[in-house]
Amino acid sequence: MSYPTQPTASHFINGQYVEDTDGAPIEVIYPATGEVIATVHSATPAIIDAALDAARSAQAAWGAMTGTERGRILRRAADMMRAANHDLSVLETYDTGKPYQETSVVDATSGADALEYFGGMAATLTGEHIPLGEDWVYTRREPLGVCVGIGAWNYPTQIACWKGAPALACGNAMVFKPSEMTPLCALKVAEILHAAGLPEGLYNVIQGLGDVGAALVSDARVDKVSLTGSVPTGRKVYAAAAAGIKHVTMELGGKSPLIIFDDADLENAVSGAILGNFYSSGQVCSNGTRVFVHKAIKHTFLKRLSERLATAVIGDPMDPQTSFGPMVSERQMSIVLDYIAKGQAEGARLVFGGARMDREGFYVQPTVFADVHDDMIIARQEIFGPVMAVLDFDDEADVLARANDTEFGLAAGVFTCDLTRAHRIAAGFQAGTCYINTYNDAPVEAPFGGSKASGVGRENSKAAIEHYSQIKSVYVRMGDLEAPF
Ligand code: NDP
Repeated sequence: MSYPTQPTASHFINGQYVEDTDGAPIEVIYPATGEVIATVHSATPAIIDAALDAARSAQAAWGAMTGTERGRILRRAADMMRAANHDLSVLETYDTGKPYQETSVVDATSGADALEYFGGMAATLTGEHIPLGEDWVYTRREPLGVCVGIGAWNYPTQIACWKGAPALACGNAMVFKPSEMTPLCALKVAEILHAAGLPEGLYNVIQGLGDVGAALVSDARVDKVSLTGSVPTGRKVYAAAAAGIKHVTMELGGKSPLIIFDDADLENAVSGAILGNFYSSGQVCSNGTRVFVHKAIKHTFLKRLSERLATAVIGDPMDPQTSFGPMVSERQMSIVLDYIAKGQAEGARLVFGGARMDREGFYVQPTVFADVHDDMIIARQEIFGPVMAVLDFDDEADVLARANDTEFGLAAGVFTCDLTRAHRIAAGFQAGTCYINTYNDAPVEAPFGGSKASGVGRENSKAAIEHYSQIKSVYVRMGDLEAPF
């Protein structure tokens, strides 16, 4: 079978596709079949140089344009992205294995939302006037310069846009490195941005493994690094950026709690637990994988959850009826199967799934463990796969303390019909992104990001502007200036 997946070239630099076959080949594998569907080459030092030089030389003129002009290009790109949604979604499905049912409504569409939102905001980015009697200070909101974006493999298009859109709106240039497992869609984002009128050199995409990311992060031409990845990679990238005193945004992993009280609407709570554990086959950073269920409803919750999981349509990701697809890679599948084995060895009770599926591709069954204890490995480490751990509780203060007893702090959710309790719990959560009676919504209008080890900074919303721009204060004296001598 031939796929429309081989890109024109591996990299996109200075407004065009560029190849350098001296770079190590990276095979792109369709997770539903294990077939190689494209090959790209890792960036050589010459490619890294070309991308950073292009970004550096294009940035000043872009930063000097009006926000209205910059925003118009981003909004045009958003429209083009929406018009191309079907093709982009098919490509994203090949790249990640996520069902078309998901990619067609979440990936390019949320990328387009970011381009539209930050495109609309670009013209509003101003400083302020600070009166000081006769004198005054005014502030200018200025770009940082060259931003490097490094992406994970679960939402390649979305991550490329969530980083690119605010960076460009603020007048920066970007060099983006996708995960080597999903190199295809960021190239399309670059293509669309330039077709929409983005001047050459402002959004470059180069391929490679962690070593290419590391070379970018430590380069003196780079002013800011935004990473979406795991906590261990975050520690390395943050440290490398610190050596150059670069700005950082770290969107890292999590092991988020989801608390379900006995007064919750059961169907909604089950929906929240499904969305927070099995969407994208569980490969979502903010997933609520520690599901604390009140003892009084545990039995009914598990029964209803199992009934609904049995209706998941697992199969060909391109079939619009399919609602659950494979893991991104054989390696990720093995990691998840190892965790499932650990859960069983630790004595957790397997309620649903628990095995690789008997078919080609990297499919792991949606898996639910009950009677999980706080100190079990499956309750402490990020699995990044379709494995839900259900824990019991019967006391509010106790469950909140247990929910917060983790190094992570990305997200947290609560299901209850008690209004005051919902807000009390949300206030008590140590997490950057919280949900009441819902889970995993991530609209561009709302800040998204983690506290504790889950990250630094926020993506989306007005808050992202703070992370892609800096304030310059200009003191203006109106009268004579006195000096001591
Ligand atoms: P990794 O941390 O393995 O990799 C993230 C990116 O960093 C990849 O592009 C990787 O390249 C690159 N990289 C690896 N080492 C270095 C280095 N030393 N210097 C610079 N770059 C480097 O994460 P995954 O791709 O496995 O993604 C899964 C993780 O991402 C999970 O922990 C998940 O929670 C987190 N995540 C967080 C999100 C959030 O918004 N908070 C959203 C999505 C995922 P390569 O892959 O080529 O090695």
